[in-house]
Amino acid sequence: MSGQMDHANLFDDARTRLVEVCQAIEIQGDARERLMQPSLSLQVSVPVRMDDGSLKVFPGWRIQYNTTLGPAKGGIRFHPDVSQEEVTTLSFWMAVKCAVVDLPYGGGKGGVKVDPKKLSKLELERLARGYIRAIADVMGPERDIPAPDVNTNATVMGWMADEFDHLARGKVPAAITGKPPELGGSLGRVAATGRGALHVLDLWAAREKRKPEETRVAVQGFGNAAYHFARLAYEQGYRIVAVSDSKGAIYSQDGLDPDAIKEQKERNRRLHDMVYCDDSVCVAEDVEKIDRDELLTLEVDVLALAALEDQIHEENVDEVRAGALLEIANGPVSSRADERLEERGIPVLPDVLANTGGVIVSYYEWVQNRSGERWSEEDINQRLAQRLERQSELVFKRAEREEISYRRAAYRQGIERIAHAIELRGNCQDSE
Ligand code: NAD
Repeated sequence: MSGQMDHANLFDDARTRLVEVCQAIEIQGDARERLMQPSLSLQVSVPVRMDDGSLKVFPGWRIQYNTTLGPAKGGIRFHPDVSQEEVTTLSFWMAVKCAVVDLPYGGGKGGVKVDPKKLSKLELERLARGYIRAIADVMGPERDIPAPDVNTNATVMGWMADEFDHLARGKVPAAITGKPPELGGSLGRVAATGRGALHVLDLWAAREKRKPEETRVAVQGFGNAAYHFARLAYEQGYRIVAVSDSKGAIYSQDGLDPDAIKEQKERNRRLHDMVYCDDSVCVAEDVEKIDRDELLTLEVDVLALAALEDQIHEENVDEVRAGALLEIANGPVSSRADERLEERGIPVLPDVLANTGGVIVSYYEWVQNRSGERWSEEDINQRLAQRLERQSELVFKRAEREEISYRRAAYRQGIERIAHAIELRGNCQDSE
């Protein structure tokens, strides 16, 4: 897509926001210096014995952006476009995000440059285990706790946790979150990002006196985060009028049923190959196939972005006709595009607040693993809702009080917390 940034610019773009916030809330000196670059960047090579006997070596990274508030926390991405700059940017966003929702964590992220669709299941497992062996020295429950991200899931986390246990010669479940519940994972983790995004949307909609039944939502992406968001939003009465995947999009004015789409997608793999209505499943009566990126320009009440970063940029921002944006993906709107949306008065519920459900429930998993407790799904969902309500209210009120966007308010809340902690640590720190 033209107008998108390369990854080197992605990090500059993220730092632009940081500089702006530091100026606005008068953060200078040590804290500002510390926050301008990651505290640790580890590049690794992951050799994998392929099924045909050959050896392939995949480049990977683990970045810890800042660990002032606690151990680094963040997912591991397997994707052919992964680069050090992208992982660094994602780790910076994790640091801000954890601080926005008041978690005792810093920010981290990992990635391997690989197309996982081209690997067999066993090759994927060897890659996951090899990656953990490569980064084991910098991870652990008190140092850096990985989790799933794009193209990694609970199964992959299970393999990784098992590999870490082997290296540690014992059970260390708190070293990785997003594990299957049988291996110490938390109930509610799989749906947590989508559920959290819906809470933030609900809280905003309530302030705007907007009812779910009157709200038409288009969702970019149909992976883990998007599906659970769409499913829960649909159950609550929101009208999901469009969804997309990397190959195409579908639209229905009357609204789509996300569970029926999932069932179809599991059979046909691509949205565009679907049979929309047959004897067993009906996605909607009047489904239309549309171009993948046409979804971004639909006239809807809410455009939920749940695919990848940098989807709304300088080139396409003026074509956006949604009433509001919900960022479920990390960094789906570039900072230039964000300014333009602000000028146009289109509110954006920002990633550093709206997609924190996953890391919040990861935190609950870590707490359960460390205390040896198991909480019920109901308990977890309730804690998630309460935390998001508290922290979102602070962001919404700050935005109102200081007459700034929700994103600026969330960044101020997060960066202020990190900067304050950096100052409290004293003047002679020489690490992290
Ligand atoms: P996923 O791999 O399960 O899904 C990604 C989806 O995006 C797929 O359906 C893919 O087909 C689609 N996609 C890719 N490019 C697209 C394009 N150009 N247009 C439309 N669709 C496209 O990943 P996920 O776990 O759902 O994560 C999605 C986003 O949410 C990422 O930015 C991730 O960092 C962020 N996120 C995820 C979690 C989580 O817990 N899963 C937590 C926080 C943030």
